[in-house]
Amino acid sequence: MIVGVDIDNVIADTEREVRRVLEADRGISLVREDFRHYALEKMPGLTKDDLDYVIDRFKDGSIFLSVPVIDGSRDTLRRLMERHRVVLVTSRPQSVEGYTREWLNKNHVPFHELHFTPESKVNGIPYDLFIEDQDNFACEIAESGSYVLLYDAPWNRHVRHDSIERVFTWEDIDRFCFPPCATRGVKTK
Ligand SMILES: [Mg+2]
Repeated sequence: MIVGVDIDNVIADTEREVRRVLEADRGISLVREDFRHYALEKMPGLTKDDLDYVIDRFKDGSIFLSVPVIDGSRDTLRRLMERHRVVLVTSRPQSVEGYTREWLNKNHVPFHELHFTPESKVNGIPYDLFIEDQDNFACEIAESGSYVLLYDAPWNRHVRHDSIERVFTWEDIDRFCFPPCATRGVKTK
């Protein structure tokens, strides 16, 4: 099958890095549950200066290099790569392709293809499965006919769709992709 995988907040813990930068450089302490919207502009308590500061870090791309990798993602991606086509699809602008490839390389994140599609993740590739965290993208992908594993986050808790299943960790994703045999552990004669 063809598996589409988003990068930010699915493989890369971008939200954690934004919080770290805000705390270290601006003295603002936030917790994950504060991120109720994908758009930082809607975050209460951030001044325009704070917002501009973070946005500039995204625009020049430097913030992407220090983002931590989400636990378990590499192992499951490696497992998927053995039998399936793994396509990374990010809404980052093409201008940060260099930083993105450097980060993927440095962190040994395996993949077959990498696409930059800032406007829409429905990009002509017939994904059988797509792993995504952003509400609008998850919905458009599900409506295009692909099944979506929605990586749980405070900004996507309102999403419901018959073709969207919520997952909380890469362990959940691994279990979905490689379900253990139901008879395991059952004694047979
Ligand atoms: Mg994302």
